[in-house]
Amino acid sequence: MSEEKFDVVIIGGGNAGIGVTGPVRRAGLSVAMIEAHDLGGTCPNRGCTPKKVLVAAGQALHDIERAAQHRIAVSIPSLDWSALIAREKDIIKDIPANLARAMTRRKVEVIKGHGTFAGPNSVRIGNRTLRASHIVIAAGSKPRPLPIPGAEHMITSDDMLSERKRPESIIFIGGGVISLEFGHVYARAGSSVTILEALPQLLPAMDGDAVARLQAESERIGLQISTGVRIERIEASCGRFRVIFTHEGKEKAVEADRVVNGAGRIVDVESLGLAAGQVDHDNGRIGIDSYLRSTSNSRVYVCGDVVPTSPQLSPIATYEGDLVGRNIVEGPKHSPDYAGIATAVYTVPALAAGGLTETAVKAKGLAVEIHVNDMHDWFSARTYAETVAWSKIIVDRSSDRILGAHFVGHAGHELVNIFSLAMKFGIRASALREHIYAYPTFASDIKHMLGHA
Ligand SMILES: Cc1cc2nc3c(=O)[nH]c(=O)nc-3n(C[C@H](O)[C@H](O)[C@H](O)COP(=O)(O)OP(=O)(O)OC[C@H]3O[C@@H](n4cnc5c(N)ncnc54)[C@H](O)[C@@H]3O)c2cc1C
Repeated sequence: MSEEKFDVVIIGGGNAGIGVTGPVRRAGLSVAMIEAHDLGGTCPNRGCTPKKVLVAAGQALHDIERAAQHRIAVSIPSLDWSALIAREKDIIKDIPANLARAMTRRKVEVIKGHGTFAGPNSVRIGNRTLRASHIVIAAGSKPRPLPIPGAEHMITSDDMLSERKRPESIIFIGGGVISLEFGHVYARAGSSVTILEALPQLLPAMDGDAVARLQAESERIGLQISTGVRIERIEASCGRFRVIFTHEGKEKAVEADRVVNGAGRIVDVESLGLAAGQVDHDNGRIGIDSYLRSTSNSRVYVCGDVVPTSPQLSPIATYEGDLVGRNIVEGPKHSPDYAGIATAVYTVPALAAGGLTETAVKAKGLAVEIHVNDMHDWFSARTYAETVAWSKIIVDRSSDRILGAHFVGHAGHELVNIFSLAMKFGIRASALREHIYAYPTFASDIKHMLGHA
């Protein structure tokens, strides 16, 4: 069997893999991209984009809930779940074909199938072996397997985005982003939603005060949330499921039509054959240097969800992919800078954050001003009848730089980008205070969120 030679072989055609192709093709390198499923990967096909279609429906229900506040009389809304899933599928249906055309224009050879390392500089796909000067692992992530009896009964976000029938009741194991985002949509659509989280706090990486606001709002719309639980087992009976868990020393049980694995996502190491590629990892965490290169095989780069040290977010995957492409072309020169990256949990209303949490700032011993605002009685919040409107902005006392920005509601998922820009490019808090914003907008409240100088 002869080997085919490429300058670059990319395993995975998601945000990260596609991000690599720009710089390497501009430099004229030959590129093969191996993709097992749909081009575009998780974000446009099974993640951000289809999920946002459901979130948008949740937002519409939230707006209808508050119609009376605007003196509008409406009847009780009813969401046709099957039609909503059809709308979601319709919105994303052309993405893989559009991306395939884009890759053809870029002269990237896309090979359909499952790639595994055949050696330190080669990848096997079916009966083909591709030898490459550089191999990029951009293989994304999969739901974290949970070592609990009955784990096989759990469904995943992929299933939630496809099931045409809305479950009347649903239990999420794990209180992370996916559970909260889907939980809000289901609850607003009329399902009974339970979230069971092992740690003391939902969304453990987020600011504790912001999470407390979000939890209160989630409970207001009917989510039943327990933290600090230990899941004992999941039992199936007559098409329904029973989750047995221990909470505050007592064994409890809750039943539902569906149980979801909401325990985060990990790298699918087994299927990549990392050992053959001489790519060292510690339980799925691939060892990398500051240039996103494998520490054990310098021909191999990693980017996207596979990177163990950065958040699993689509813009980060694209950014890291581009950086890896540039490192391949120019030699390892570029290290990622994650300062101030904005993120959002698309509950309705959303929790949004950028930079450091208060806990992280205190752990670093930094001297800071912390501006906390409950904005529910501010004009903008009253105008839109917001159910929650809260912010916490952390400013470095000596440099006047923004160190962290946290929001629940109040268009925080948009405003956080302004703060993220400020953090990255050193725009000071005084400049954000002095800036003239369009009025009245949520952004015009930034002056007040930062208090008085
Ligand atoms: C339900 C859900 C909602 C999300 N919402 C958001 C959001 O709102 N905002 C946000 O920023 N992020 C969100 N994310 C995260 C985001 O989707 C990921 O961070 C992003 O897609 C990662 O890109 P990637 O290229 O690293 O991996 P992926 O997009 O997963 O791409 C990896 C690709 O590699 C392929 N592959 C894997 N192994 C092999 C192999 N051995 N051979 C060939 N191909 C292989 C896979 O088929 C896949 O297409 C969400 C994720 C989920 C699951």
